[in-house]
Amino acid sequence: MKTLLALNWKMNKTPSEARAWAEDLAERLSPGDAELAVMAPAIALPALAAHLPAGVSVGAQDLSAHESGAYTGEISAAMLVDVGTRYAVVGHSERREYHGESDATVAAKARQAQQNGITPIVCVGEGLDARERGEQVPYTLAQLAGSLEGVGEDVVVAYEPVWAIGTGKTATADDAEELASAIREALRERYGDAAEEVRVLYGGSVKPDNIAAICAKPNVNGALVGGASLKVPDVLGMNDAL
Ligand code: PEP
Repeated sequence: MKTLLALNWKMNKTPSEARAWAEDLAERLSPGDAELAVMAPAIALPALAAHLPAGVSVGAQDLSAHESGAYTGEISAAMLVDVGTRYAVVGHSERREYHGESDATVAAKARQAQQNGITPIVCVGEGLDARERGEQVPYTLAQLAGSLEGVGEDVVVAYEPVWAIGTGKTATADDAEELASAIREALRERYGDAAEEVRVLYGGSVKPDNIAAICAKPNVNGALVGGASLKVPDVLGMNDAL
């Protein structure tokens, strides 16, 4: 299975800036072993679809849990598909924290993505309190079970310890593997042999200089990257390191 480098821009870059970034990447990217996907603000997705180099996927950072109708301000899976979207992040810790998204909402969004042919990237991970109590494994697996309710095996799981997101504190490669292997075991119980094909990503202050060690772990199949996704040279550095 191909390593996935999923780039989460968060609320950064206008459509014009997205276009310039995509053109810059297209000029400088030499194909590597990893698959790249850019998770951009929805309004920038058409510019990305038009200007990203071939083979680099377009992804959304969220989507509606509903098919269509009276949900002012929301963006449906069908709308995302129409502009070329292949992946959608669901349940990012910032959406869980600032928008009160529950595991049930995350699962509904993941199902909605799958029903429309988008692969959801389901984010889970413990906060600092659970980590300090040594409860990172049960906490994260409980969140995973709720977030995958009714969700099929065409899914990516991102383990993102909240204390490591945007803080510069990276989990060690062994910390990442501890959770990735526990997640893999839970996926085996849910999906059987198909679990071996589900990519489990690590996210939390990943950069060009730490990505190789983390992704070398047997159950880690790529990274979800925030801060280091914004500058093309950092993305090239991470791609080259994989
Ligand atoms: C993220 O946004 O999912 C993330 C992991 O951010 P950062 O790489 O900046 O920690």
